[in-house]
Amino acid sequence: MGAAHTPDEADDLVLSLRDVRKVYASGEAEVAALDGVSLDVRRGEFVAIVGTSGSGKSTLMNMIGCLDRPTSGTYHLVGHDVSAFDDTQRAEARSRYVGFIFQGFNLLARTSAVENVETPLLYLGVGHEERRARALRALDLVGLSGRVNNTPSQLSGGQQQRVAIARALVTNPALLLADEPTGNLDSRTTEEVLALLQWLNRERGVTLVMVTHEPDVAACASRVVTVRDGRIVSDVRNASPRRAGQRSEVDDATAEDALATLSAPLPEARAGMGWTMALTLAARSLLRSKLRAALTALGILIGIAAVVTMSAVGEGAKARVRTQMSALGANLLVVMPGGGMAGGARGAAGSVTSLTDDDAEAIAREVPTVSHVAPVLAANAQVVAGDQNASTRVTGTTPRYFAVRAWAASRGTLWDDDAVRAAQPVCAIGETVRKALFENVDAVGREMRVGRMTCTVVATLAPKGQSGFGQDNDDAVLMPISAFRAGITRLPNGQVNMVMVTARSADVVHRAQFGVTELLRQRHPVRAGEEDAFRVNNLSDIMSTFNEQMSLLSMVLLLVASISLLVGGIGVMNIMLVSVTERTREIGVRLAIGAQADDILTQFLFEAVMLAAVGGVVGLSLGYGAAAILGHVTKLAMTVPPTIAFFSVLVSCGLGVVFGYVPARRAAHLDPIDALRRE
Ligand code: ADP
Ligand code: MG
Repeated sequence: MGAAHTPDEADDLVLSLRDVRKVYASGEAEVAALDGVSLDVRRGEFVAIVGTSGSGKSTLMNMIGCLDRPTSGTYHLVGHDVSAFDDTQRAEARSRYVGFIFQGFNLLARTSAVENVETPLLYLGVGHEERRARALRALDLVGLSGRVNNTPSQLSGGQQQRVAIARALVTNPALLLADEPTGNLDSRTTEEVLALLQWLNRERGVTLVMVTHEPDVAACASRVVTVRDGRIVSDVRNASPRRAGQRSEVDDATAEDALATLSAPLPEARAGMGWTMALTLAARSLLRSKLRAALTALGILIGIAAVVTMSAVGEGAKARVRTQMSALGANLLVVMPGGGMAGGARGAAGSVTSLTDDDAEAIAREVPTVSHVAPVLAANAQVVAGDQNASTRVTGTTPRYFAVRAWAASRGTLWDDDAVRAAQPVCAIGETVRKALFENVDAVGREMRVGRMTCTVVATLAPKGQSGFGQDNDDAVLMPISAFRAGITRLPNGQVNMVMVTARSADVVHRAQFGVTELLRQRHPVRAGEEDAFRVNNLSDIMSTFNEQMSLLSMVLLLVASISLLVGGIGVMNIMLVSVTERTREIGVRLAIGAQADDILTQFLFEAVMLAAVGGVVGLSLGYGAAAILGHVTKLAMTVPPTIAFFSVLVSCGLGVVFGYVPARRAAHLDPIDALRRE
């Protein structure tokens, strides 16, 4: 029996259990899975733990492997009182002192042998190069130098278990803990694995504790401990262990070399898994189920693509309006009858068209901050010259209109006030109209038909180019307002469609606006509480009305996009929860071989973030693409604002964190014992 020992033997003590009890509450009664176990194991021992099913072997193994803590009693592992350790400390003790070998091998699927062997070092924060060197030497030691890049499915059962043994040895632990290591192997491979374990123990001084229910396997150990009903009922040395069969050849030089590498000290402070590793694991896991990842990321993808596209459209429209506004000049005021911008609807509700030539004259005469005033009548009409015809916008106005719009003649002379007084049938035509009717000839002096009237072209207008609201400024025919009334159409009582006004300078725009409003109120009084019969807008009013409408549109789109993002986020959470359930065993193995809760949390959180970020980045690219296509089609300058690009990636990562946290936490808080038991 190993209970009594002399002081100098104490240094050799790998583990020491004293009166350990583990009690489970099972319904009303309590079951003592371990009922006062005391056990010492010294360096270099090979102990087999045997017993019938339900005798407490697994509970004892979990205790020795620091996966569980005793209800009472103490447990020292290489001098540390592990029974007093918390979860984190026990995880660290596992990763430093214990190497686990499982019945079902528990290698990480689709991961090469060498990477499997490296995993415990990952959690200890060993650098990449040393990790690789140690893993390769550990594989040398188990005779698998030629199989380092094979994945578990490319290896036989015996080879897989040898990889698992290499993984257990790679941290040079004080103790190898094997739970039915040959339970899943045929008799020939059983011998091979036993021979390896025996060799490691005898020739290399590795301390081994192995649970088995097979007497044949137990016979290979140098000490057999029998457990029954949670108690040790016998503990016998085996002076002549059975020699297991052939082990695959590893020569002494290779073995010496390997052991020298493995016995190099590990980092003192546990660093945990780095960012790069977390990213690598996440990427690998997503690549493993590409279709699933793609479908999961779809919600976020659509949401981000929608936001990006719409913001580009919004920017494009705003930019175009800004260009047009600045082309018109900041001094412009537009006076319209009825409700102004919303005039259509209000006009229909009963307000009469009330602006007249006289109003325009009164403004010019009585508002000192105003420089030019032009009454405007407009209609769409067919224009014809020779065999060419076109449809255009015809405006009847006064010469002040040229000043208001800063419009000059490119050829000919613009008609003047005399033409207005005499209602001369003359017109100035925009570049678009000139091209349509007088492509290859000089337009000035020629006749053209405008609606039912015939008039003479006296000037062509300098091109203003395509601008705002999708309108072509050059698609215009300008004629004296009197001629317009005579030949095109007239409103009763000298009424006009609108009056365009320019303030003397940008500084007095608001004073001019106020002056015009006051004057028109005197001229068109309404009853108290009623709205004015006209509306005076300056360009920034028009601009802000437009911006308001754009913002409203943006809000609606943002709402739609948010819903899509929310659904996408829930999708991520859902798939991550499924993933945690599917990979419970993997999580258990990782926890057993040294991962801490934080490592598992990081791994799953990174996976969720990466999933969401992929959706975000692809969505962003699609948004850019859609904006480019729409820009090409609409000729709007569509640019994705850099802040939107930045925030969409940030938001998708944020969604990953928010919706990945619950699944990741669930994974991190799994009990390693339960997790390992799960199939
Ligand atoms: P073995 O591995 O030798 O088959 P175990 O250590 O698994 O035995 O179980 C020993 C006893 O403890 C059994 O009676 C079992 O039912 C009980 N037991 C083990 N784990 C639990 C648990 N988590 N909750 C309740 N009872 C348990
Ligand atoms: Mg068991």
